[in-house]
Amino acid sequence: MLEARHISFGYDALKAVDDVSLAFAFDRITALIGPNGAGKTTLFNLLAGALKPQSGEILLAGEALTPLPPHAIFQRGLARTFQIPRPFGQLSVLENLLVAADETPGERFYDGWLRGGAVKRRERQLTERARELLDFVTLDHLADEPARTLSGGQQKLLELARILMKEPRMILLDEPAAGVNPALLQVIVERIEKIHARGIGFVIIEHNIDLVTRICDPIVVMAEGRVLVEGSAETVRNDPRVIDAYLGDAP
Ligand code: ATP
Repeated sequence: MLEARHISFGYDALKAVDDVSLAFAFDRITALIGPNGAGKTTLFNLLAGALKPQSGEILLAGEALTPLPPHAIFQRGLARTFQIPRPFGQLSVLENLLVAADETPGERFYDGWLRGGAVKRRERQLTERARELLDFVTLDHLADEPARTLSGGQQKLLELARILMKEPRMILLDEPAAGVNPALLQVIVERIEKIHARGIGFVIIEHNIDLVTRICDPIVVMAEGRVLVEGSAETVRNDPRVIDAYLGDAP
């Protein structure tokens, strides 16, 4: 599991994440919901190592992640996507996956020179894997197009394929439904479920409650930097504190 133990982070006087302890199981798709400013994105940034907690610690399968930089956390098997995807726009869709792979040995001159055969073989394997993943996320027909030409929903699928080049154990998804048309959203949901069926855990920040109640259990509700309620959709729906938190957010 991915565990946060008493983590806190503040921007100046504002405690964006305030003494949060949570355990996210690999065999669950957990939703992280809450009104604007609840601290969800800050919590993701802490889990993925983009921000460092001012107190507390984070563990993945019992191993402390807190001291590690983001790329080392990714190597350990904790991947994240962004609310607004950030592909390398000039590179092709396929190349975006290749740069995400463990290494690109062909770029290292001596490796290429001394071990040409092995390097070529590895590159061939990576390309094969990238093509399989593009097929999986239904982007195979766009493999050679520049990534910047993809729609918002297609970029989210590309991000998903990109992090799967690493075979993560846990994936943090930031608003997979935001700005995505219903047909593509259905593809995204099905792919999440298929990936999860292979034993990979998910934590999903999402405002689309229909999506949350359809595929997530448990649901964690945050408000003002703290965990308000944690439980099934039924538990969360009927909790007056949750209703209060959302009404408080209304204009
Ligand atoms: P949303 O659903 O709107 O994305 P959220 O639950 O993800 O909200 P955060 O973005 O984590 O919430 O923000 C938590 C609090 O920290 C908010 O009060 C926000 O204004 C503040 N905050 C976030 N980022 C910064 C920053 N870089 N500098 C200062 N304050 C910030």
